[in-house]
Amino acid sequence: MGKPTGFMEFTRQLPTDRDPTQRIKDWNEFHDHMPEKDLADQGARCMDCGVPFCHTGTLINGMAAGCPINNLIPEWNELVYRGHWREALDRLHKTNNFPEFTGRVCPAPCEGSCVLGINDPPVTIKNIEVSIIDRSFEEGWVQPNPPNQRTGKKVAVVGSGPAGLACAAQLNHAGHTVTVYERHDRIGGLLMYGIPNMKLDKRVVQRRVDLMTEEGVQFIANTAVGQDLPATSLVNDFDASVLCTGATKPRDLPIEGRDLNGIHFAMKFLHANTKSLLDSKHANGQYINAQGKDVIVIGGGDTGTDCVGTSIRQGCRSLVQLEILPKPPDERSPDNPWPQWPKVYGLDYGQEEIAAAFGSDPRQYCIMTKKFVGDEAGQLQELHTVLIEWVKDDTGRFAPKELPGTEKVYPAQLVLLAMGFLGPEQVISEKLGMETDERSNFKAEHGQHTTSLPGIFAAGDCRRGQSLVVWAINEGRLAARECDRYLMGSTTLP
Ligand SMILES: Cc1cc2nc3c(=O)[nH]c(=O)nc-3n(C[C@H](O)[C@H](O)[C@H](O)COP(=O)(O)OP(=O)(O)OC[C@H]3O[C@@H](n4cnc5c(N)ncnc54)[C@H](O)[C@@H]3O)c2cc1C
Ligand code: SF4
Repeated sequence: MGKPTGFMEFTRQLPTDRDPTQRIKDWNEFHDHMPEKDLADQGARCMDCGVPFCHTGTLINGMAAGCPINNLIPEWNELVYRGHWREALDRLHKTNNFPEFTGRVCPAPCEGSCVLGINDPPVTIKNIEVSIIDRSFEEGWVQPNPPNQRTGKKVAVVGSGPAGLACAAQLNHAGHTVTVYERHDRIGGLLMYGIPNMKLDKRVVQRRVDLMTEEGVQFIANTAVGQDLPATSLVNDFDASVLCTGATKPRDLPIEGRDLNGIHFAMKFLHANTKSLLDSKHANGQYINAQGKDVIVIGGGDTGTDCVGTSIRQGCRSLVQLEILPKPPDERSPDNPWPQWPKVYGLDYGQEEIAAAFGSDPRQYCIMTKKFVGDEAGQLQELHTVLIEWVKDDTGRFAPKELPGTEKVYPAQLVLLAMGFLGPEQVISEKLGMETDERSNFKAEHGQHTTSLPGIFAAGDCRRGQSLVVWAINEGRLAARECDRYLMGSTTLP
């Protein structure tokens, strides 16, 4: 433990974010860094508990509790407190290939299960994590580390999101010759074209891709496996393959008026915005523009929040975010105790920005969209809603019940559908005759990652369904370990 009395002496502090009214004028990241002295104080709050729940990642009630990649949190907290930053980096890299991603975008289930959090605000684990890795890059401590020798085995990784990148990095460290195929023009999956630049600067993603390239990983962009490259190539041209294709099928809302102009899937909107930003700083106009429009985002999760943050930066006239679930409580409810992930109300960055610009949190809860209405030209003009309550049906399951008299009409020229994803696209699985599970994910056990086809592994959202970056890294690492075992008969990968 860095300082036995630290948790009593210092209160939780995070760096101040950039002012919401100012940051919505650009696409730069909005988190600032803290001075080293303050970070040491925050590290001193860690009690180095006998059972550090923060790093024992597990699922409770379907939600992550603790760090899914088992980051050695108490160890690097102490090292930061003592000023041993270089050693802190080494500890961090033992379990996490990409702390610069998780330190920016992870919802930090570690903090939800921090023991200090039982009766005090938890340790600022995520902020310490990103501070270690950002400083390490600044100091030049993060250098390419290619393997000493190659095994001669060839592995294909399909998809370059966090699962594919983590898997490729591990397999490359084990000495295999790794080729990563990505159908988009830039590498990174949702790190590049899902999560917007203000939350995760794309130079941070590209920096890691460049590092991996120097370590010997080959990236091939603009190549959809199953289309530009036959799926059978995975079997015929490689010793093993790992599918990390993500859960990219969006949930639709097939109600009256769905075909009107102005209704888009969230990912189409977010992808085009980031691509245009990176290609031309938006000069090419190749994106869906919210400027001057009344925007409605349907869906209250991360994807919806990113649509909110993007719309306000584009200059929307108004914004409403619809959530079908009830508003969470301000404090943990009795059935959501520590160390579970705390399901409590809070403003994420996008809602904070709307509140600063327009005066209030844009979210409406327990609300259902009934229909879209357009003008004669087929352009969306209105969205009709009704409030609902959740009641148990005959089978004991909660189902939405409409509340008569609560119908409402919202003006809307742009609607963004952010209601989650329905699993991976099936092109590769169908072409190879691979089994899928009852949710249409690629069938493979967590920790084994072997599909129904020998030598073909699956990891990340395509196996577990829509999830988090940190789980994708967990899966990529585990799939690499099992792939290495398959190729070599044994493995030393963690
Ligand atoms: C808008 C949005 C915001 C999010 N924000 C957060 C957040 O803040 N924090 C967090 O922890 N999680 C967040 N998530 C979830 C997180 O991004 C995902 O869980 C994670 O990226 C999954 O990683 P993956 O590698 O499995 O798949 P992905 O990141 O989806 O990558 C899959 C890649 O495979 C490629 N691909 C698919 N099929 C083929 C093919 N046939 N050939 C070649 N390439 C192919 C795709 O183009 C894609 O690039 C967010 C998700 C979305 C959609
Ligand atoms: S990866 Fe996420 S859960 Fe793990 S230590 Fe970092 S912020 Fe916490």
